[in-house]
Amino acid sequence: MNYQAKAVITRETNAPVVVETISVEGPRHGEVTIKLGACGVCHSDLSAVNGTLPFPPPVVLGHEGAGTVVEVGGGVTEFAVGDTVLSSFVTMCGICRYCTTGRPNLCDLTAKAMLTLPDGSVRTKDAQGKPLSIFSGCGVMAEYATLHTGNVVKVDARGVKMECCALVSCGVMTGWGAAVNTARVQPGSVCIVFGAGGVGLNTIQGCAMSGAAMVVAVDMNDAKLEIAKTFGATHTFNPTGSDDVVKALKKLTGGGADYAFECIGFGSIIAQAYSCLRKGGTAVMVGVAKMPDTTTVRTNTLVFEEKVLTGSVFGGARPRHDFPRLLGLYKAGRLKLDELITRRYTIDEAPQAFDDLASGRNARGVIVFG
Ligand code: NAD
Ligand code: ZN
Repeated sequence: MNYQAKAVITRETNAPVVVETISVEGPRHGEVTIKLGACGVCHSDLSAVNGTLPFPPPVVLGHEGAGTVVEVGGGVTEFAVGDTVLSSFVTMCGICRYCTTGRPNLCDLTAKAMLTLPDGSVRTKDAQGKPLSIFSGCGVMAEYATLHTGNVVKVDARGVKMECCALVSCGVMTGWGAAVNTARVQPGSVCIVFGAGGVGLNTIQGCAMSGAAMVVAVDMNDAKLEIAKTFGATHTFNPTGSDDVVKALKKLTGGGADYAFECIGFGSIIAQAYSCLRKGGTAVMVGVAKMPDTTTVRTNTLVFEEKVLTGSVFGGARPRHDFPRLLGLYKAGRLKLDELITRRYTIDEAPQAFDDLASGRNARGVIVFG
């Protein structure tokens, strides 16, 4: 069947998002339709609006969603109507070399589903009947969405609010996973996290959960630094006005960090993160930069200091393993989710939610559907 749904759309690069009623076609073979319960507003959505991610509009935004399956397409055995599911902005085909070697976050099919379902088509049309692209195979900032099963993960959400479930599906997975899955932070280590937004706060809590002895949060927004303390930052640093950020952080850490994470989106900042490492340290790029952005390291530091520079997409997620794992930690009282939510919005308030994200007012803003 066809579903009428309010959806948040970027119609024009660098213009405010708009809320429109669209038509969402029900599932075809290998797809499910979801009624959304909540959708977080991630900086990557904002990057699609402001052109950092070169997604040609119109695009239905949203990739941090949780909802309930309302219809399943042919051949779908893994999901049933009534299941609680989270969206995954990486597609998992299950058969490529990455999926079969435990790295579904690098699945080959994801590249085919940047703006459509993996088969290149969409189920979304505007009121004039024109097709609408969808953000990363998801487009879940909408009352209903039809997704390929490779972008959907079933979870046991009993006792967990939809708004908390939603955050797991990008910000928490990405940030926590960068520390736990990608860097594999060791107990007693020294960590620096650049950027204490929705993603960086979760890197901080991933470092703390891994037993880091020192976690330094770096952000130019003092309010974010205060929140960072509640997520496990032992120290904070505001780089505003500092003439030598690397020198200051090396001094603060007593010679440099074992792990440094960039959760903002600039080549210049991952270069700082790398420079803050002690010998043998690992720097992880989590933020998504503009496409032409580059970074520079002194070549011989790779050799003589055995430093590692790497990146992390979706926190090295194996979503079908990690989403239930994260919800299990939350249920056990060991993972903070509620504390991430600064403000809840109705879908009609989405333009305000994007303004608040851009101006740094929220740890995370979440759209909660009625
Ligand atoms: P956010 O806007 O909530 O947080 C960014 C933080 O960086 C803010 O607290 C801001 O004050 C701080 N900041 C900005 N410029 C700074 C500077 N020059 N120095 C210090 N602090 C600065 O964003 P988010 O949702 O946490 O996303 C962070 C980044 O992660 C974005 O680039 C986003 O696209 C990216 N991301 C990556 C993945 C992935 O798979 N790797 C997934 C999701 C998001
Ligand atoms: Zn995201």
